[in-house]
Amino acid sequence: MTTDSADIRASRKMALELLLSDHAGDCVAPCQARCPAGLDIAGFVYELASGNPRRSLEVILDSLVLPGSLGRICPRLCEQGCRRCDLDEGLAIAGLHRYPVDLEQKKSEPFVPGRAASTGKRVAVIGAGPAGLAAAFYLQIKGHDCTIYDAQDEPGGMLRYGIPAYRLPREALEFEIEMIEKLGVHFQMNTRWGEDFCLEDLREEYDSVFIAIGAWKSQRLRCEGDELALSGIDLLEQVAKGEKPYLGDKVIVVGGGNTAMDAARTAIRLGTRRVRTFYRRTRQEMPCLMEEVEAAELEGVSIDYLLAPVKLQRDGDQLLLTCQRMELGEPDSSGRRRPVPIPDSDFQVECTAVVAAIGQSVEVSLAREQNIEVSAWGIASDLKTLETNIPGVFAGGDAVLGADLAIRAVAAGRVAATSIDQFLKGKPVVGLEEQAAVEMRAVSERERAEIFRRIELSSRPQLNLIESSRRLTSFDEIDLGLTDAQVSHEARRCMTCGCRKAGNCIMRQYATEYQADPYRFAGERRQFSQDTSHPEVIYEPGKCIMCDACVRIAAAAGEGLGVTTIGRGFQVAMGVPFDGPLAEGLTKAALRAVEACPTGALALRTGRSCDLGECASCPGASNEAST
Ligand SMILES: Cc1cc2nc3c(=O)[nH]c(=O)nc-3n(C[C@H](O)[C@H](O)[C@H](O)COP(=O)(O)OP(=O)(O)OC[C@H]3O[C@@H](n4cnc5c(N)ncnc54)[C@H](O)[C@@H]3O)c2cc1C
Ligand code: SF4
Ligand code: SF4
Ligand code: SF4
Repeated sequence: MTTDSADIRASRKMALELLLSDHAGDCVAPCQARCPAGLDIAGFVYELASGNPRRSLEVILDSLVLPGSLGRICPRLCEQGCRRCDLDEGLAIAGLHRYPVDLEQKKSEPFVPGRAASTGKRVAVIGAGPAGLAAAFYLQIKGHDCTIYDAQDEPGGMLRYGIPAYRLPREALEFEIEMIEKLGVHFQMNTRWGEDFCLEDLREEYDSVFIAIGAWKSQRLRCEGDELALSGIDLLEQVAKGEKPYLGDKVIVVGGGNTAMDAARTAIRLGTRRVRTFYRRTRQEMPCLMEEVEAAELEGVSIDYLLAPVKLQRDGDQLLLTCQRMELGEPDSSGRRRPVPIPDSDFQVECTAVVAAIGQSVEVSLAREQNIEVSAWGIASDLKTLETNIPGVFAGGDAVLGADLAIRAVAAGRVAATSIDQFLKGKPVVGLEEQAAVEMRAVSERERAEIFRRIELSSRPQLNLIESSRRLTSFDEIDLGLTDAQVSHEARRCMTCGCRKAGNCIMRQYATEYQADPYRFAGERRQFSQDTSHPEVIYEPGKCIMCDACVRIAAAAGEGLGVTTIGRGFQVAMGVPFDGPLAEGLTKAALRAVEACPTGALALRTGRSCDLGECASCPGASNEAST
């Protein structure tokens, strides 16, 4: 009998899509879905709440390298998605994943992950920024031998030479790089692609190459006299290398992104009395995180909006910057409203230095010379696998995306490591396996009440900052991190969202295998609700697919009341006859019913929402805060 054909697969796929169309639940916690690295946030926070920071770090490193550094500088995309934002305040996730690294840093024998036996394969990575470091970390763990080539004296990329030490202290970054070094990754510093080696050399010597050269080409002001301006990243690089460039007492920084804010705050720390930032749009359009803007203002940086430079000239020992006022017009390709010059609005400002911080781009000429295709942003590589048009050569991070975020570079490094591993093993290169996932998206008021039924209001911890006098005169780290007590409290605020069976849901496995689209037939879905009356089992009717498995198991076990299918139409689901409590319907057969249930409809109270599957170290303690 034929059980597998194109038609059969298509009909199975459609059946799965219909089953998923009204499923009420989140496979993956909403915070995890927002982190570009897909960090198992509920999983690592659970370990922290259980008083197990080292295990927490192991869970983190499964998908996120440099968690201590990212805990300091990531714009925390995850926290905006945290379910608690709907109740009180989102969890301090970044601070929580910084914590176990800070603890390790104080130990005499810090944690180093285990490594698979050497495969004998060798990989060259160009660029020791977060993308290159992350790729080398995961490749090395998989047993491949990595060498990172970098033009600078020290590894870290923009984390070392761009982001100032008051946001990311060098010791914290170096500690995480040391972990990568201890895994056996070899660093070949002061070695520049295009000068000291060419791609052909690496392709001959290594089995695969990952290009992660970042976006280091500073954009000029594009106005008359712009050669008189300093570049923001050059200024930050000089300071990162221990130099103290003289800027004078009146500095104007042009730009509204991370580099602009960091350059302005650096100028303050170098002793400049008056630092102004000119941005050509308004505060709402600034690409920088608002808390960075507020921190700059707190330190004395003033920001002028809707201004653009049109001319820079010398005036004795000063500079004279001519600016034009702007107004916002129609949205441009970035979706932000385009700044349009206001005629006859020019005016002049005197200053001692002008810093251009209006963006960085990728040096693509090297790639072009090697016949690697490029895009409008940088080097072109496949979205899913990061392979370039040259087999065995991969590219990722800012080098592909253009100037972006460290977390996306780290995530790209892991994707590259997965693809390169597949390539080296002669498997199809498909990148990271993506599991099908359902999201609840908007929740009704009734569902909201159900989700927060047993959750008490509590606020997120206050930041522990150094005193303001030290801020202005030193590059000491501003945010000292969470205390032990704050971590313990904050970790317990996590509601361990996501499905308790995310790691072993049969319907999800099939949906992945058949590439089912959960939203193909999306319409009205069932309401999310939970029956928590049973001592061992949690029942979510919105996830029941009426397979009858639990009904048959209860009957075979001779349960008194047992369970049956109840209701009509959309509302049909498993239930206990005569509206009895679940604890009476499922007594001796409860655990077997949970095991047989193909979805997260029946799950153990102690089940974890994470994707760790059969994690041996799961303490299995019940989390009172769980919904
Ligand atoms: C001032 C500033 C502030 C920022 N603040 C934040 C922030 O707060 N949060 C955030 O998430 N992101 C921030 N970013 C962005 C973040 O730093 C980058 O997105 C991230 O570092 C990109 O990682 P990458 O590995 O792709 O590239 P990079 O970090 O740029 O690393 C590239 C590496 O390649 C090397 N390289 C370049 N060319 C060659 C060559 N020809 N041969 C050999 N080696 C070469 C470089 O020396 C460098 O080490 C900031 C960036 C800047 C500039
Ligand atoms: S890396 Fe950023 S987005 Fe990911 S969990 Fe950490 S703070 Fe959130
Ligand atoms: S409460 Fe915890 S699991 Fe739920 S969204 Fe927030 S951080 Fe994620
Ligand atoms: S086992 Fe029971 S609860 Fe689970 S899907 Fe089937 S009928 Fe529903």
